[in-house]
Amino acid sequence: MSIVVQKFGGTSVADAERIRRAAKKAVDTKRSGQQVVMVVSARGKKTDELVGLAAEITAQPRPREMDMLLSTGEQESVALMAMAVHELGEEAISLTGAQIGVRTDGSHTKARIISISTQRMKDALDAGQIVIAAGFQGVDEDFNITTLGRGGSDTTAAALAAALDAEMCEIYTDVEGVFTTDPRVVSSASKIERVSYDEMLELASLGAGVMHSRSIEFAKKYRVSLRVKPSFAAGPGTLIAPRPAQPTPMVTGLAFVRSEARVSLIGIPDHPGVMKRIFSLLCDNRIPVDMVVQNVGIAGTANVSFTVAAEDLDRTLTVAKTATSDMGGTVQHNGNLSKVSVVGHGMQTHTGVAAQMFRVLADNSINIHIVTTSEIKISVLIDHELCDLAVQAVHEGFQLSQQIVHTPHVGVPSELSQTATRRDTSELEADIVSQLSGMEEIVVSDIYSDTDQARVTITHLDDTPGVAADVFCAVANGGVLVDMIIQNVALDGQANISFTVPPEDVAKTIQVLKTPLKKHAAAQVSCDESIGKLSVVGIGLRSHTDVGARMFQALGDSAINVQMVNTSEIKVSVVVAADQTATALNALRSSFNLNDDEDVQPSDSPAPTA
Ligand code: ADP
Ligand code: ASP
Ligand code: MG
Repeated sequence: MSIVVQKFGGTSVADAERIRRAAKKAVDTKRSGQQVVMVVSARGKKTDELVGLAAEITAQPRPREMDMLLSTGEQESVALMAMAVHELGEEAISLTGAQIGVRTDGSHTKARIISISTQRMKDALDAGQIVIAAGFQGVDEDFNITTLGRGGSDTTAAALAAALDAEMCEIYTDVEGVFTTDPRVVSSASKIERVSYDEMLELASLGAGVMHSRSIEFAKKYRVSLRVKPSFAAGPGTLIAPRPAQPTPMVTGLAFVRSEARVSLIGIPDHPGVMKRIFSLLCDNRIPVDMVVQNVGIAGTANVSFTVAAEDLDRTLTVAKTATSDMGGTVQHNGNLSKVSVVGHGMQTHTGVAAQMFRVLADNSINIHIVTTSEIKISVLIDHELCDLAVQAVHEGFQLSQQIVHTPHVGVPSELSQTATRRDTSELEADIVSQLSGMEEIVVSDIYSDTDQARVTITHLDDTPGVAADVFCAVANGGVLVDMIIQNVALDGQANISFTVPPEDVAKTIQVLKTPLKKHAAAQVSCDESIGKLSVVGIGLRSHTDVGARMFQALGDSAINVQMVNTSEIKVSVVVAADQTATALNALRSSFNLNDDEDVQPSDSPAPTA
């Protein structure tokens, strides 16, 4: 008999009536002939209330006790849910994380799942019971209660679905599915019918709060079909599944994080080992880094910027100051920023997506402080108070309320990466996943190089709204395909942008830049046709905070200087000198234990077809 996992979020079980309604859904599903595992969150705002209670006692509750406290919210819900099922005439058993056998590591308040023992659940299901599992919690090896991080019941649900080989994991929530952006912020947002794992991973990790991003890591790793559905209405919701073959919209969705802090290390030495030093310090201090932006060094010095959650700013500044006191340079920061990102596979087959986003922002007089891209996302950092304006404008600019599916520009590879379809990594991933010792361990499925790129850098641009739009509209209109785009923080009122293009288009790029650069008297353009780009591909690369540290360690130990960096959930790329590409590739592959097949040789991606 097939198993369905049904997860109900806090609002879906907020009161007795809603608990009954959720119980009825599970009972109906069981009566239709399936076995049902419910995963239930704490009721309504219960978890927030518990956090508030702790704050009344102490400003610094110990994480272990916090987990002991927060896990009670879910325990209350599962018991009530079991009673509601009993009232409807079906058998049900409520189980805590420990009773289901959700084993986690010991990192309280953000624990990762190591294993789940399915026997007890299977026995209960076979005995005709509905299993009602507490979301968000587990136990470490000493049976201390742990929690998975806020919003973690989604992750429990996807993990149980993976462990039980469930046919479907349904996520019942207070909206009708996954929308093009938060429908509570943009009322014209439209519901998405189907979104790929990679798009949802990016959307979730870039701020779309509808799903816990780690739940999508589980879904992708273990090929769990997820469906986000409305609790309070009928409707098919949104399917989260492998990428369909048919064309997708240019942009699938837009996500934002209201509060981000930027820390920049300015004027640090531009030589091997510098990134290693910074990232090992951040990793040792367990500070999750979000955007990482390093553009090309000038006169022997480089500037690195990264963003962290606003609450980590103080600790990050301490780390940054330690780094600069060792190696020189100064630290700058801005704690008043927001990040707005657009996500979609459509970017791989359409030119000018970045240009269009930058133009919309410029038309609304929104200055862009930092830009990073990956093959399926473009993120910009802007002033915090302009976040809502930017979200509305970009949503409208890409006509997301209508979800138009454009025909791809035939034969034109991605503006943001020609390497996107280099190979199907799902088989490699499946192999690696089957050998993981812990369910949430990192998966690095491939590491490859691409030497068919050239870098163009523009410095001394006036830092005014519209700079990036002017540059990238000119480049897109010239028919040049742009891959990585990096804009680092402006210094002394001067912005700088680096991007990569096919080497044969460098001359054309310089030509088309002449017109937009007329407005910027001091602007200087430089190019380097001898670069190599290395990409580490996997699942959850950003949520595993040590990936950057491991990469920079491997490159630093091989005396390789990093010129540009960009990151996403599924890929981290660095640009190095062309003649160091093979060494860098080998260093990275051995660092991630991928050194044992013919792919060790540098393997360039296919040349662009247009
Ligand atoms: P639950 O308690 O069911 O887990 P959450 O509050 O965690 O629910 O997630 C649902 C909320 O996510 C919605 O109410 C909505 O405001 C927010 N949200 C943010 N981005 C999106 C999006 N792209 N699509 C749908 N909802 C979104
Ligand atoms: N109750 C937890 C929270 O509010 C987990 C969840 O709802 O997913 O964060
Ligand atoms: Mg949630």
